[in-house]
Amino acid sequence: MAGVSLADERIESLRADCSGAVIEPGDPAYDDARAVWNGMIDKRPRLIARCQGVADVIRAVDFVGETDLPLAVRGGGHNVAGTAVCDDGLVIDLSEMTAVSVDPEEQTARVQAGATWADVDHETQAFGLATPGGVVSDTGVAGLTLGGGIGHLRCKYGLTCDNLRSVDLVTAEGEFVTASAEENADLFWGLRGGGGNFGIVTSFEFDLHPVGPAVATCFVLYSAESAESCLRQYREYVADSPDEVTTLTSVGVMPDEELFDEDVVDDLKIGFLGCHAGDPDAGERALAPLREFAEPLADVSGTMAYTDFQQILDEDYPDGMHYYWKSLFLDGLTDSAIDRIRYWADAAPSPLTTVDVWELGGAITDVGLEESAFAGRHAPFLLGVEANWEDPEMDEDNVEWVQDCIADMRQFSDGSVYLNFPGFLEDNDEVMETTFGSAYARLSALKAEYDPENVFELNQNVKPATDE
Ligand code: FAD
Repeated sequence: MAGVSLADERIESLRADCSGAVIEPGDPAYDDARAVWNGMIDKRPRLIARCQGVADVIRAVDFVGETDLPLAVRGGGHNVAGTAVCDDGLVIDLSEMTAVSVDPEEQTARVQAGATWADVDHETQAFGLATPGGVVSDTGVAGLTLGGGIGHLRCKYGLTCDNLRSVDLVTAEGEFVTASAEENADLFWGLRGGGGNFGIVTSFEFDLHPVGPAVATCFVLYSAESAESCLRQYREYVADSPDEVTTLTSVGVMPDEELFDEDVVDDLKIGFLGCHAGDPDAGERALAPLREFAEPLADVSGTMAYTDFQQILDEDYPDGMHYYWKSLFLDGLTDSAIDRIRYWADAAPSPLTTVDVWELGGAITDVGLEESAFAGRHAPFLLGVEANWEDPEMDEDNVEWVQDCIADMRQFSDGSVYLNFPGFLEDNDEVMETTFGSAYARLSALKAEYDPENVFELNQNVKPATDE
């Protein structure tokens, strides 16, 4: 491999010490093992260590110390920037560590760091319990939780990271550490929103809540002609809706031949997606206004299994397509912001693309701004700008469209971004400092304590504080 020479004995020793496979270029499993969700990413690691447990992770971290190889850490492989893999380095891949065990008495779940939200929902729903995850079920628990976690239960039960009881991780020194409110509390603060900067998480312990098995849901689509009016009505609706209701709106073509008549399938539309985390009858009533903003083009709202709702968007985000997403926390949903959302959705180069507005507030604001590192707690809405496309020839057009849209929409934001929708980590330092503001110094000091050499650099990176 270019620039990397590793003695065979070193690799054999790593292989002998790990229960999981250590995969190299040329192995039949190599190409599958280096592929991530975003088809734009084409990285060629020197080694991929498929860890089976904490011992493998410690050994692999020690190997990085011995060899100075660049390091990438893989949970569910869904980071848009492709930070789960790297060129010429070691990937510590946790994707086979997927065990989830539920304590129904305590209402907690212990989740290994390679699990997806489908793994978590499957086990927790066996007991009628859930913790807030993400809106696509094959997204990894690890990256999503460490960045904050914004899912269908957020207004009632908060961010995913708000539901953490404790986190087990391996530090850059290869030490096994537990972080919770009682133990290593500062580290626990940083892990809730500060990303993968401080170590390799091996498992999370989450609080669970009674949810389902059936929940009232809303999924209704209107024509783009009514988009501005719908968004204004939506703004009024979320101001008064109960915390049980969590919603998201998307403007895009969403060309679904099963949902739409032939004459509108290729037209721009606006959709509202949401669920109610309580009694389904009360939920149907609470969600009803969302279905009355205009004459729907399609309305598939209704009470359904919580696990089905958690998977309702899965097919829209297939592995290997091309993706480029960015975000901004919005100060509000003003009439001018609404006009610009419609404008940018109209200008999107791909029909699979959407401009999304995620409702925040509710239980997210029950946690104090200083209580966790997560930076967007103050914001009433998150803007997600998602370019999704199939033709590689359209890469440049799509990336440019997202960047232009974000540059324009900054007028409605303090410039802070949701780190789990990070583009390709352009302007990392500026974005991190703007996003975290005064908390950046605390993150940077924590980084200096746990990872002074910035071994965990391939992420939305916090630079270790120096003495200067
Ligand atoms: P990976 O690509 O495996 O990892 C990303 C980064 O996380 C790594 O580079 C590393 O820095 C860190 N990391 C991963 N595992 C560990 C570990 N064990 N220890 C330490 N650091 C680790 N976000 C939301 O909040 N809500 C959503 O509803 C949502 N929906 C999404 C839907 C799709 C289809 C996609 C692609 C993304 C979605 N996201 C959502 C964004 C998601 O939170 C991020 O992409 C996140 O990084 C995915 O985590 P992962 O473990 O799959 O990522």
